[in-house]
Amino acid sequence: MNYHQKKSEDVLSALATSANGLSNSEAAKRLLEYGPNEIKEAARRTPLGMFLDQFRDFMIIILIVAAIISGLLGEVADTIAIVVIVILNAIMGFVQEYRAEKAIEALRLMATPASTVLREGVPHSVPTHEVVPGDVILLEAGKVVPADLRLIESAQIKIEEAALTGESVPVEKNIAPLYEEMVPLGDRRNMAYKGTIVSYGHGKGVVVATGMKTELGRIATMLQEEEEVKTPLQKRLAKFGSKLAIAVMVICAIVFGIGILRGEPPILMFLTAVSLAVAAIPEALPAVVTISLALGAKKLVKQNALIRKLPAVETLGSVTYICSDKTGTLTLNKMTVEEIYADGKLWKKGTDEFPRLDMLLTALSLNNDTHCDAKGTVVGDPTEIALYNIAKEKGFDKHETGDKFKRIGEIPFDSDRKCMTTFHTGLHEGKVVSFTKGAVDVLMDKSENLLTSDGRKPIDLATIHRINERMAADGLRVLGVAMRLWDTMPSSLSVDDVEDKLTLLGFVGMMDPPRAEARDAVTICREAGIRPVMITGDHPITARTIAGRIGIMDHDGDVMTGARLERMPMEDFEARVEHISAYARVAPEQKLKIVKALQDKGQYVAMTGDGVNDAPALKRADIGVAMGITGTDVSKEAAHMILLDDNFATIVKAIKEGREIFDNIRKFIKYVLTSNAGEVWTLFLAPFMGLPIPLLPIHLLWINLVTDGLPGLALTAEPAEKDVMKRHPRHPQESIFAHGLGAHILWVGFLLGSVTIFTQAWAYYTGHAHWQTMVFTVLCLSQMGHVLAIRSEKESLFSQGILSNKPLLGAVLLTFVLQLLTIYVPFLNPVFKTEPLSLSELLFALAMSSILFVAVEIEKWFKRRKEARRGENS
Ligand code: ATP
Repeated sequence: MNYHQKKSEDVLSALATSANGLSNSEAAKRLLEYGPNEIKEAARRTPLGMFLDQFRDFMIIILIVAAIISGLLGEVADTIAIVVIVILNAIMGFVQEYRAEKAIEALRLMATPASTVLREGVPHSVPTHEVVPGDVILLEAGKVVPADLRLIESAQIKIEEAALTGESVPVEKNIAPLYEEMVPLGDRRNMAYKGTIVSYGHGKGVVVATGMKTELGRIATMLQEEEEVKTPLQKRLAKFGSKLAIAVMVICAIVFGIGILRGEPPILMFLTAVSLAVAAIPEALPAVVTISLALGAKKLVKQNALIRKLPAVETLGSVTYICSDKTGTLTLNKMTVEEIYADGKLWKKGTDEFPRLDMLLTALSLNNDTHCDAKGTVVGDPTEIALYNIAKEKGFDKHETGDKFKRIGEIPFDSDRKCMTTFHTGLHEGKVVSFTKGAVDVLMDKSENLLTSDGRKPIDLATIHRINERMAADGLRVLGVAMRLWDTMPSSLSVDDVEDKLTLLGFVGMMDPPRAEARDAVTICREAGIRPVMITGDHPITARTIAGRIGIMDHDGDVMTGARLERMPMEDFEARVEHISAYARVAPEQKLKIVKALQDKGQYVAMTGDGVNDAPALKRADIGVAMGITGTDVSKEAAHMILLDDNFATIVKAIKEGREIFDNIRKFIKYVLTSNAGEVWTLFLAPFMGLPIPLLPIHLLWINLVTDGLPGLALTAEPAEKDVMKRHPRHPQESIFAHGLGAHILWVGFLLGSVTIFTQAWAYYTGHAHWQTMVFTVLCLSQMGHVLAIRSEKESLFSQGILSNKPLLGAVLLTFVLQLLTIYVPFLNPVFKTEPLSLSELLFALAMSSILFVAVEIEKWFKRRKEARRGENS
């Protein structure tokens, strides 16, 4: 018999377990026996494969072939030197890529989900891959089902099974056995399958299959074709790179042609042209972007932002709006009950006398979804914990009342309805009592019986509104509590029938203080041209107070409510959306409308969310942000980034980091393309000046290795510019060459070419036999000066501090020493075709090499002056 045909008890005994779950030792034994609960992945790239990939570039292959042919025809030492340099280059590329891959892998492991498992009756959070057959799993809305389960308890549990059946409408589940054997998966109402999503309610299920034995495991191979995602920048760079490659090849062909016409040996000219192509085509740019993003993501984890999708690191810097939940993100999510209003009396925390409110406190202790974990700590939603605590403090412990007045049914809380209801026996002779608690305004609409609980005093509506609004204006979350008597348990638990005709017992005001760091983060956002927006399910007045305290809006600002938002046509909403700073009584689905409207206005939106219904908005947002502590699995899967500390300030830190990473990628591009342009100009201009070929292939390849390699990569360690959060967000569609980058590459590249050609012309025509070594040195060391000068867009190196990027300084000094070694170590002279320079030649070369540095420092000085003038005028 299949599990779906068996009764719950029979399933439990067949799996040698109980409704309390397995013991830890039995679970450990089964983990060894059945293996981890994982879907096996397609083979990853091996390190060797990754290394060989470095040679896949067409120009590199041509270079190696050409070098070998030239070796066969003549000097073998040349060939060996060229091949060694190419291999060194590949090793460097490999090490970087390997580090990046490891960083991505580590991020992936950090994002593995956990499941709540009953072990000997106590709930434990266990990594999902450690779940074993026989484990009893607790399911709740927002969880991804960790393995194939036979359900043994269900409180209106609904599961969305699109991952397996393609059906996106959630299926309501129950625990009754089915009689037929051949029931399609979608109709097995008492089963829950790995990878499907609990969209509503809660329940318990026993694991019947794990890992590749699950239904998902069976079709896993079909799901494995996860395509590699390229970031927008990578796509643009790849396109730009291929155009540039063509241009460089044309120039190389011209250099080759002119060389032949001038009677140079064809094989040397061919090698020179190919070396120039290898040195000047920036084929590694897209890879460098991946590496920078992956290493950036690693850095972001230290700031508590876990990146799930790598392109997010790149787009973070473009965010113009951060739409954030209030509870837990802007506030601490630590609620305490501050006030209670019931039976016409108001109690405030800290005052001695507490009125007798037995029914209200019983309701708070019974209509409560906290539970104790293995260590006896009360866990659950902070709202629930606050209510649990106050009831317990006043003598109504959930565990005692719960034993006496059993819960026999419930309609779970959901953020759309903003209420929850439980049913109990034993409180009222022969009757069933239901307690409903939820947002006061919602509850008022459902309460026809506006009497106090003793049924005598009519409640004064105006007073209720006044007190509710006053509590909200003090920043409190106000929950109403109501009850209803039933002769028998209602047969259908339809919300409209059950949560109706209620008797209001009173209401409770809870404080959730704003996070201390939120206010500063909001100020930073404003300076950085980012608008923070608060979205909450709470009352508009509570929303305004809290938003005011955090600085998100002025106290008299307008708060848009969910109801108004619902009624407003999209065009009208779009006309206003950019001016709204706070939303209240919003249902999670409405977040999607907010994201869409902002995006239609050209904004770049980060949106936070934690619940199951937040997923569509998170997916749609440019940066969907899930909560690491309180977030559901579903929200985490939909998000681009997870906040490990649930803190708004972390989003702002991540944006800063994102801007810094993007700046550094831009600096890398600026450096590499300027250098390459200089190399191309040098080889291209020389014949027109009547000069011999300035450099040999080995020189070009060496310069490419030492300049692009370490100094280029050390640029990614550049600390953030001082004004990184004082300027406006970069437009995501903006060209990478904007803000003067393209112009810089053109003029500084040309200057670099001119400086080297001038060096060659001067040395050549004044009869210096070492002219080539001088050109070689000037071209290499000029780039060191350049890399130091472009560390900042505007600031001078001297005010920035030469020591503020030690890896870069180290790389520059190392390159300098290596360059001198190629000149002054006798046995390297024949390898690098160099000759020792005299002191005056060396000093001349050093003087020429510093021109670029000085020129770029002057460029920055002009920029600073222009900015200062603009500042004075505005
Ligand atoms: P925010 O939207 O500010 O981030 P949140 O996500 O906690 O807060 P919801 O959980 O959607 O907001 O709650 C919305 C409303 O539902 C609350 O303002 C409150 O009135 C009501 N509410 C919240 N928690 C409960 C609960 N456990 N039981 C009953 N009602 C609740």
